Amino acid sequence: MTIPTPSDGCSARVPARDKPREYCGVFGAYNLPNAAELTYYGLYALQHRGQESAGIVSTDGDQLYIHRDTGLVVDIFHKPETLTSLKGSVAIGHNRYSTTGSSSRQNVQPLTSNFKDGFLAIGHNGNLVNTLRLRAELEEQGSIFQTSTDTEVILHLIARSTYRDPAEKIADALNQVKGAYCLVILINDELFAARDPRGYRPFTLGRLDEGWVVASETCALDLIGARVERDVEPGEILRIGRQGLQSYKPFPKKQLQQCVFELIYFSRPDSRIFGQSVDRIRRLFGRALAREHPAQGADIVISVPDSSNSAALGYAEESNIPLELGLIRNHYVGRTFIHPTQSIRDINTRIKYNPVRGVLEGKKVVVVDDSIVRGTTSRRLIRMIRQAGATEVHMRISSPPIRYPCYYGIDMPTRSELIGSSHTVDEIQTYLGVDSLGYLSEKGLDALGTLDAGNHCMACFNGNYAESFEKNFQKTMYEDIQPSLLVGEPPNP
Ligand code: SF4
Repeated sequence: MTIPTPSDGCSARVPARDKPREYCGVFGAYNLPNAAELTYYGLYALQHRGQESAGIVSTDGDQLYIHRDTGLVVDIFHKPETLTSLKGSVAIGHNRYSTTGSSSRQNVQPLTSNFKDGFLAIGHNGNLVNTLRLRAELEEQGSIFQTSTDTEVILHLIARSTYRDPAEKIADALNQVKGAYCLVILINDELFAARDPRGYRPFTLGRLDEGWVVASETCALDLIGARVERDVEPGEILRIGRQGLQSYKPFPKKQLQQCVFELIYFSRPDSRIFGQSVDRIRRLFGRALAREHPAQGADIVISVPDSSNSAALGYAEESNIPLELGLIRNHYVGRTFIHPTQSIRDINTRIKYNPVRGVLEGKKVVVVDDSIVRGTTSRRLIRMIRQAGATEVHMRISSPPIRYPCYYGIDMPTRSELIGSSHTVDEIQTYLGVDSLGYLSEKGLDALGTLDAGNHCMACFNGNYAESFEKNFQKTMYEDIQPSLLVGEPPNP
């Protein structure tokens, strides 16, 4: 039997790009009269976590109301009647990246289904690492899959569970899967939120009036005026229904693996995740970077906006070098801008960033960026900065070199495409055309004791994956994983 190439709850290989991409954002609202509208605003705040499709599913307890499509949140829900048609006081929503082509629409989440106990909807942020076998077994037993997502495996496992109670059904299903997940689930008129025991992705719980909300990041709660209560804890299933809020912890405790890249790059700086202010942590990374890799004699520090702004501020503060706006980012670049008929050098980079000549001319410049993936965009940026008159360019990166792909919900190129996996720092410096290059070390990431050492995943830097993988990973989307990296599940503490 041929098993379709699986993708994560919301992932697929995508065209070449030079930044890792978050796969998804999730949001849920309970006991709020305008639940769908609030979910819309929540998804709007989480747009950076997935920009190719979105969906909202609401319920009044009698039936599900569904609207999903490809595109940005504002485009999908631009008609007021779309939101008013999503009735009820309970809703979940989802932003995602998706494949191009015919399969993309059917993979748009939340996924929905009717089953023997009523109706079910689910949205997933993360990536499971053991669903090939589960999917094959389910298909052998007659299950028919509508999508190529691993989220649908969870949907089937919940629907087929022999437990009677919905929370037990969810626990039964999640006990069979491994990997990263933050889930929003509707079962009839109840809202559930579940986070994997290692806590890879951020997930927060908030209160609004008499209702409850859950979201990938606190910035979504801020936008709707909700109060942050606490994180959905790793290994926790929250049930929000007529009985109020109930918490279940049905899984064995595991060593935490909170994604350090959420702090470095993905999450919004105005969010608090893993109990930390993202902006504060990024500034501390910038300070540590300045101590590890000073740039004596430099005139100005500039950031590669926007994700590097906080780290650049930290670098400038620590080194006493003024921060300047040397690059301006165009925020209105669509994913499909029309390419010029005549070749314009570096058009893909120029369309997004423009150097400020008056700031850069005659200056020795420190450029702070958060990460380098392929290096192609950085190389073009450096060329533009030099053309704008910079006399020296010193690049500083507020993370260690990315050497390994991520299998826990972040879309990265294959290992061979990661410049950090095959080139030394000196070689990368030469390739980029900079006068010096410095990466923050792993130790530096934790230099200020902010990371609660040992509780964060750094696998894309050091290859220490916490979850073992199915053997046939190599033959599918995980073709580039090295056998030596297939590590076993550590014993439960
Ligand atoms: S491998 Fe990197 S991007 Fe993936 S979860 Fe770990 S730290 Fe985050």
